[in-house]
Amino acid sequence: MTQTLDRSTSEVTDRVESWVSAFQDALSARDVSAAVSLFADECYWRDLVSFTWNIATVEGTDEVADLLTTVLDRIDPTGFAVDGEPTSADGVDEAWLTFDTAVGRGTGHVRLKDGKAWTLLTTLDELKGHEENQRERRPFGTEHGANPDRVTWKESREAEAEELGYSRQPEVVIIGGGQGGIALAARLRQLGVPAIIVERNERPGDSWRKRYKSLALHDPVWYDHLPYIPFPDNWPVFAPKDKLGDWLEMYTRVMEINYWGSTFAESAEFDEAEGRWTVKVTRDRGDGPEEVVLRPRQLVFAMGVSGKPNKPEFPGMERFRGVIQHSSEHPGPAGYEDKKIVVIGSNNSAFDICGAAWEAGSDITMVQRSSTHIIKSDTLMELALGGLYSEEAVRNGVTTRTADLTFASLPYRIMADFQRPAYDEAKVRDKEFYDQLRAAGFDLDFGDDESGLFMKYLRRGSGYYIDVGAAQLVADGKVKLVNGQVQEFTETGVKLTDGTELEADLVVLATGYRSMITSVADIIGEDMASRVGKVWGLGSDTTKDPGPWEGEQRNMWKPTQQQNLWFHGGNLHQSRHYSLYLSLQLKARQEGIDTPVYKLAESHHAE
Ligand SMILES: Cc1cc2nc3c(=O)[nH]c(=O)nc-3n(C[C@H](O)[C@H](O)[C@H](O)COP(=O)(O)OP(=O)(O)OC[C@H]3O[C@@H](n4cnc5c(N)ncnc54)[C@H](O)[C@@H]3O)c2cc1C
Repeated sequence: MTQTLDRSTSEVTDRVESWVSAFQDALSARDVSAAVSLFADECYWRDLVSFTWNIATVEGTDEVADLLTTVLDRIDPTGFAVDGEPTSADGVDEAWLTFDTAVGRGTGHVRLKDGKAWTLLTTLDELKGHEENQRERRPFGTEHGANPDRVTWKESREAEAEELGYSRQPEVVIIGGGQGGIALAARLRQLGVPAIIVERNERPGDSWRKRYKSLALHDPVWYDHLPYIPFPDNWPVFAPKDKLGDWLEMYTRVMEINYWGSTFAESAEFDEAEGRWTVKVTRDRGDGPEEVVLRPRQLVFAMGVSGKPNKPEFPGMERFRGVIQHSSEHPGPAGYEDKKIVVIGSNNSAFDICGAAWEAGSDITMVQRSSTHIIKSDTLMELALGGLYSEEAVRNGVTTRTADLTFASLPYRIMADFQRPAYDEAKVRDKEFYDQLRAAGFDLDFGDDESGLFMKYLRRGSGYYIDVGAAQLVADGKVKLVNGQVQEFTETGVKLTDGTELEADLVVLATGYRSMITSVADIIGEDMASRVGKVWGLGSDTTKDPGPWEGEQRNMWKPTQQQNLWFHGGNLHQSRHYSLYLSLQLKARQEGIDTPVYKLAESHHAE
């Protein structure tokens, strides 16, 4: 048995190593056709910054050839080598790789089918000569000896906070100080890129604190770590919102982030000749608002992937005698304990709001306007996330970095195929639950191609509920369900197009958000915003994600149609992982490293 294993392991290793050495030989010889011949007809090469100075996936051998022909000379890849033990399953060999480029060091991952590359991931880890000050390179922290002009750590931090943005301009301004902006700022600080976060809320973490009181993260702790400081081992599986808020505040402080709270970004204009932005902000340091003009070279929007609240206008809203709130304005059910609430919508926020209102004793009706995907939280954790992000994964030696890179190694074009089996299994495992929901009249879906939650998230960022209990209330009729479209408001409630009238003291519009670009347009102007275009989505040509195919998330973490303008955000996993690649792109530009972008994505949709 041992002998068989040893032989097959060494066969896999031999296969992978011979592919890697042939690949490196072809790259070194600048022999594009030899390199391309190592790829299968169906192949995907996903690059995070290392070859393309972009986040891009090329598909098929013609596109691989084009990429190599364009970038090979200037990227000068060397030292491709296998890192660790390759594995093999279902006819696919897999291995981690390391390599160098002219300016950096990278990590890669390859999947071989019949000895040819099916998927290849290449990522930039660090820039040579600009490595983070970690481990052996960590700062000393003090100055031994005697120095009458000694400046303490605290004094130098205070001086920096005083001068940055006033007598010295930051390289980067990040608008939005939620988890996204904070993770990026932490990385930039480690790379020595002066940055300021501009945040309209007072304190880091407020974007979570200000949400309704029952909110806890929907993703488990293993998925949520921030860069550099993982959550401790006693951290709850699902962080309650205020606890997460406190963590972000602590993190901001200890990571020494220049965080301008109570600061509103008003406008930003780009001066082409100077290559700098003029960002006008209103800052309140406790003694009243002052206008400050910042002149960064790079501007990052981290204002949340959701843009402005999508607030539909219905006839008769003005005559309604009750209260109308968008879900983003809804503080919770207090004051409506024995009253009638109608929630328009049937996705995450709608369910959370209905659940909290039912617990408070309100009479609550959900109006479902279109089908929704529901997946039970424990099912999601077990079937979709558990292999990479769970206590078991940790026990199996899967680090957060390995998990993130493994996830990143799956090209978006075929990701749905990897996702679908988990949801097929969920349909069987939770059949009774889904049957009950359907019997209650709930219109369920699993995505346009049955690929479930994560694909919906990546494509449109909406249309689902991770069930943490409220779906059962609908199934049991404790939250009343009505299917239909709102026609108008009456004095006492809402009337649907089929004539159904629903009485309400409070109507909550859980009708979602528009694209991030809609909020950004208020700051950069409509012209620039429409040139940059829609943010988020893959161009999958599924509901709310119009084609053409992009292969990557639109405009996220990569160069856009506006020079020196960037977008950052996503869930905690994406913020953690992609902040690395965005920070390296910004660092390279600060250092004047040549960063020609391969295949800058075109903009096809204004919003
Ligand atoms: C019920 C619910 C559960 C969720 N569960 C999870 C989960 O489990 N995991 C997860 O990762 N995500 C979850 N999310 C999504 C979560 O909201 C986002 O992941 C997260 O907020 C994104 O962080 P961000 O930093 O990109 O954006 P935000 O947290 O939205 O931060 C953007 C910041 O920009 C600021 N801002 C906007 N305009 C300006 C301006 N002009 N000037 C200055 N500042 C400005 C805002 O005040 C805000 O603080 C959940 C959301 C909800 C509603």
